[in-house]
Amino acid sequence: MTIRTRFAPSPTGFLHVGGARTALFAWLQARANQGAFILRIEDTDLERSTAESVQAILDGMAWLGLNHDEGPIYQTHRFDRYAEVVQQLLDEDKAYHCYCPKERLELLREQQMKDGIKPRYDGKCRNPGVVPEAILPVVRFRNPPDGNVVFDDLVRGSISISNQELDDLIIARSDGSPTYNFTVVVDDMDMQVTHVIRGDDHINNTPRQINIYHALGAEPPAFGHVPMILGQDGARLSKRHGAVGVMQYRDDGYLPQALLNYLVRLGWSHGDQEVFSLEEMVKLFDIKDVNRKASAFNPEKLDWLNQYYMKTLPATDVAAQLAWHFTDQGINTQEGPALEDVVTVQAERVKTLKEMAAHSRVFFETYDEFDANAAKKHLRPVAAESLQAMLNNLQSLDDWSPDALHDVIDTVAARLEVGMGKVAQPLRVALTGTGVSPSIDKTLWLMGKKRSLEGIAKALDFIKARIAAQ
Ligand code: GLU
Repeated sequence: MTIRTRFAPSPTGFLHVGGARTALFAWLQARANQGAFILRIEDTDLERSTAESVQAILDGMAWLGLNHDEGPIYQTHRFDRYAEVVQQLLDEDKAYHCYCPKERLELLREQQMKDGIKPRYDGKCRNPGVVPEAILPVVRFRNPPDGNVVFDDLVRGSISISNQELDDLIIARSDGSPTYNFTVVVDDMDMQVTHVIRGDDHINNTPRQINIYHALGAEPPAFGHVPMILGQDGARLSKRHGAVGVMQYRDDGYLPQALLNYLVRLGWSHGDQEVFSLEEMVKLFDIKDVNRKASAFNPEKLDWLNQYYMKTLPATDVAAQLAWHFTDQGINTQEGPALEDVVTVQAERVKTLKEMAAHSRVFFETYDEFDANAAKKHLRPVAAESLQAMLNNLQSLDDWSPDALHDVIDTVAARLEVGMGKVAQPLRVALTGTGVSPSIDKTLWLMGKKRSLEGIAKALDFIKARIAAQ
């Protein structure tokens, strides 16, 4: 059997963390078994679905690298198919037209509540009677009147629901539009989905859907309902807890690898291992190992993983993500160091890619003025000698590598009989305009020869002017 899974979001908002984790689990279940992963956009709610949400979902999936083999399939393109299956059920008397007016259903509901019984349709239209004129009927599924629906949830274990608890579900509204529980069955059946992995907010729908599969003569897929994600305060994760849209994590400077690793650990584990490459996840994941308990979101752990991946992923992979942040911050990187080199130098020093880009602006843009405090403190007359010596030595240096640059600084410090810091600090201000940057040899390296020499000359001019003004 080929494993086929799907992610079936409703495009009524961005791809949030909970949805992304569901998508990841479904994707992993397919990839772990050389199966197929389908992306289906459940856009039948025309009022709440938006094109922007569809785009946000596609962007989120692409950014996370959760590629699909089939789709995106839009439910709105399948209305003819749903109508066909509704008709089939009507023809086979497995569904029926219901003419009950809203008022009657409301009264029925009120009465049932008063009598302390679970509100459900009483089946008045189950047996054909006089067809009232001028009422457009809905179509109801004829749910089996007795017996139990039993299924073995891959996450939650065995679940049994009495059919007496289940309503004769409306499968098509009076305007002909199909409803969620029905379209999802037709789709999962037609798309030959073998494993439905979704949030446990759908668990109550599953018995109803299983009955529809049976009515259609189809074998229901396996179901795995994953628990929700909680905020640290134990409440369901929401905007209140900070960023919940996946693309917000991109904007905030997280690597997709870090977010994926973080998400997979929300509810799934393998021993006490915390770090999983995507390949490892694919190798080890099984939906059956997902914990049935809700898991809580822990931003510090995500930060830790982000730093871990910034330091350990191939610099080219990190650079590809970093490029987006430079553009986002209006930093033109056409001229300047290779982004991989920036990553190698900065990864240890920052928490996010957003910070990395911000702190690296100086390698691509010439600063206008020295930071006043840094200049006051470090560009003093005594610094002129070491800056001049650095300028002379660097002018003739051909090998612009961190090691060679380190040697030049050592040589100058030794000749002037001062500590490295005495050379480095004025030099840092000369190069970056500020008192903070990576180690001085790496700063020189990233800055490049031309701009390093220009910066030192500028600092020397500043000191000269300062002396003249005294
Ligand atoms: N469209 C549903 C949702 O976004 C998911 C349906 C399903 O996975 O069966 O909640």
